[in-house]
Amino acid sequence: MTATPIALDLSAPRRGPRGKPPRHFVDLTPEQRVTAVTELGEKAFRAKQLATHYFQHLTDDPEAMTDLPKATRDLLAADLFPQLLTPVRALQADGGTTVKTLWRLFDGVKVESVLMRYRNRSTLCVSSEVGCGMACPFCATGQLGLTRNLSTAEIVEQVRRAARSLAAGELPGGPTRLSNVVFMGMGEPLANYKAVMETVRTLIAPTPDGLGMSARNITVSTVGLVPAMEKLTKEQIPVTLALSLHAPDDELRSELVPINTRWSVDEALDAAHHYFEVTGRRVSIEYAMMRDINDQAWRADLLGTKLNARGRGWVHCNPIPLNPTPGSKWTASDPQVEQEFVARLRAHGIPTTIRDTRGSDIDGACGQLAAEED
Ligand code: SAH
Repeated sequence: MTATPIALDLSAPRRGPRGKPPRHFVDLTPEQRVTAVTELGEKAFRAKQLATHYFQHLTDDPEAMTDLPKATRDLLAADLFPQLLTPVRALQADGGTTVKTLWRLFDGVKVESVLMRYRNRSTLCVSSEVGCGMACPFCATGQLGLTRNLSTAEIVEQVRRAARSLAAGELPGGPTRLSNVVFMGMGEPLANYKAVMETVRTLIAPTPDGLGMSARNITVSTVGLVPAMEKLTKEQIPVTLALSLHAPDDELRSELVPINTRWSVDEALDAAHHYFEVTGRRVSIEYAMMRDINDQAWRADLLGTKLNARGRGWVHCNPIPLNPTPGSKWTASDPQVEQEFVARLRAHGIPTTIRDTRGSDIDGACGQLAAEED
């Protein structure tokens, strides 16, 4: 692995009202963008030009906006494209095809995102909150507690910057597009519902009003906040829903995913199944495999039984080898035990694929994001 130090931008960060990030183009509706541009004394059609630069050309740099007069682009960019994310550090793994970036936000707090390039797709794992309030004991972010939610623009900026990096050919393999976004970085996306849904809408809006991504290639992962899952179901946006189950029984799950004491295994599975019924989108069940904790054959059978009790073909299982986090008493399951677990699920007819652990050597894999300062 290699660390690439990045020059720090020491200019004083701008602030928005009441501890919010400064106003950013992405956080405005198309109408508000027109209003903002005209209030700055410029013509309304400049709003569309800015959108084209930002969402299509993936740039917020006034120097690149050569179809606008110099004074105009400097004025508009300075006002509407404040730098929300400042790169602090980038770590690479897997021959440069995995890149974890640590970002500093306007108020000095930090989050991470992880870009993974595969042969036929590129996936960005984004953070939706600074820290997380869900307190899952095996997850590094869970140990931090929640500092604050991210704004839509702070999340979209993670995506825009990754897409630009890929388009510019900064990862090995030549220029490419960002195809997938997973809300599996820091935070519980459904606890920051409004900003996350606005982000999803922005990602799937056709260019130049959004990034033109496919909803199917966006995965929202949740601990199982049932009312928010029901709300998501009603949105009728065909994103992929992933449920972090980690245990098929309430006794163990309440220990691993404390919110289970509020919404049980059965309630979370019912909400996940309802999501499938309404959207037709197959749900993913995430299951971090922890040695001698949740990896017993009987738990695989119980999981298979509970999933099949709700129907067939609605769900896909994603066991994740536990990525170790500092101070955690848990370790990954024995590979043979893991294989047996997978075989049992498959014997129940549940499609099952083990999640890769890309980036684990740079603490960039699932559950390892802690955004520590070095
Ligand atoms: N809050 C959301 C998104 C977080 S991370 C959620 O919980 O779903 C995405 C996945 O990584 C979740 O399934 C989470 O449980 C899992 N995870 C957390 N810590 C992990 C670890 N140490 N090893 C492997 N997976 C982990």
